[in-house]
Amino acid sequence: MCQLRDAATATAMEHRKILDILRHGHADETVIVQGWIRTKRELKNFSFVEVNDGSALANLQVVIARELPDYPDLLKQLNTGASVEVKGTLVDSPAKGQRLELQAEEIHLYGGVDSETYPLQKKRHSFEFLRSIAHLRSRTNTLGAVFRVRNSAANAVHQFFQERGFLWIHTPILTSSDCEGAGELFSVTQFDLANVPKTEDQDVDYRQDFFGKPAYLTVSGQLEAEVMALALRDVYTFGPTFRAENSNTSRHLAEFWMIEPEMAFCDLNQDMDLAEDFLKFIVNAVLNTCPEDLEFFNKRIDSTVLSRADGIITSNFERLTYSEAIAKLQQANKAFEFPVEWGMDLQSEHERYLTEELIGKPVIVYDYPIGIKAFYMRANDDGNTVAAMDVLAPQIGEIIGGSQREERLDLLQQRLHASGLDEQDYWWYLDLRRYGTVPHAGFGLGFERLVQLITGMTNIRDVIPFPRSPMNIDF
Ligand code: ATP
Ligand code: MN
Repeated sequence: MCQLRDAATATAMEHRKILDILRHGHADETVIVQGWIRTKRELKNFSFVEVNDGSALANLQVVIARELPDYPDLLKQLNTGASVEVKGTLVDSPAKGQRLELQAEEIHLYGGVDSETYPLQKKRHSFEFLRSIAHLRSRTNTLGAVFRVRNSAANAVHQFFQERGFLWIHTPILTSSDCEGAGELFSVTQFDLANVPKTEDQDVDYRQDFFGKPAYLTVSGQLEAEVMALALRDVYTFGPTFRAENSNTSRHLAEFWMIEPEMAFCDLNQDMDLAEDFLKFIVNAVLNTCPEDLEFFNKRIDSTVLSRADGIITSNFERLTYSEAIAKLQQANKAFEFPVEWGMDLQSEHERYLTEELIGKPVIVYDYPIGIKAFYMRANDDGNTVAAMDVLAPQIGEIIGGSQREERLDLLQQRLHASGLDEQDYWWYLDLRRYGTVPHAGFGLGFERLVQLITGMTNIRDVIPFPRSPMNIDF
């Protein structure tokens, strides 16, 4: 734990994080804490303020005795939201609710708060309202817990891959290719939009733009990750990804973080094994590092958080082919909004039926129809399907999408043409199949969906500090 020492008080006195005090502090220790006041309770001979510094869900209860200098004036200023430094002595707390409390000896107010205008009142606020004050919402219990869990999960992502010898690679954010061919791209240009250079045919003259051709924000680092995997064997990306999704859903952001492992000498089965190990590892790591936060989510947000986490860690994920999944959906006595037939893309309602109702744990669906999947997914021998897999999780639906990649040049070229893509644009990608091609596979996991899965937060906009979605980019 990082312990700051104040040069001005270069004694044995320590500035301590509240988490450290709650876990390791003991009575009679003198400490200095810094943080923001959550609540104030005035009693006759003394008052309580609860101080939170973000290091823990719990607050530190500070006791302010009437004997402190300027007590009435001081108390007036110790409002919810005010920032303080408190020096004092830890004592065993006589009341239940906390093990220790801090008997204040000196209080320094850094910044006061006008309670009339401070948007975070003691009452519960809706998540929708909190999104409109994204600069302050991380001071609430729920959002604070979300961002501690998010940090813990991000750390576990690196730990998982690093322990297995994967190299973290950095793929570009600016790109000229639409990896998926799905067309959900944000354009990047230096043109003055009021005065765009045109060719003789009145088309946009991209030759005059910064890169001399159209450029976009990346929708996936996969193609570049394949390049690196075919030199370094096992690699992963972990970075921001952009999709101009018009869908205003609780599972889509315009800017999100994606994790994309890519492995050479790897087939679809090994890919599915890795995806399952990965989810188990991350959930287990967060349970170990943020137990108080997960209990909070289980109590306040979604009472299935802990059982779901346990199910992910202890169960073997069910594996179904797409054709088996379709058959099960057709046998289900359910009126789906989108009728089920072989060849369709599974909708969220189908995914959630499979993982929540039918199986009751994560499900991996694999071998999807060739017609609905991207050109780079490896054709199976049956001629109808590709070696693709999606991991479906309760409450979320699709959390991981992956595949074995087509490593055979002629088949990849055919698929490119069938998808209406231009071979010229993919010359370097095709070169990987010309020079020392190998079976390889990987997947993409939306980091925010993972945080949703772990916390039970229903809206993806509440698991990233500054969400980007249609008409929303203020913070
Ligand atoms: P969906 O059908 O849910 O839109 P997708 O098929 O477009 O997902 P992929 O292209 O396979 O998703 O991307 C890999 C992973 O990235 C998904 O499994 C999901 O976890 C995540 N993901 C995709 N789009 C978004 C988004 N707009 N916001 C947040 N996460 C996303
Ligand atoms: Mn999508």
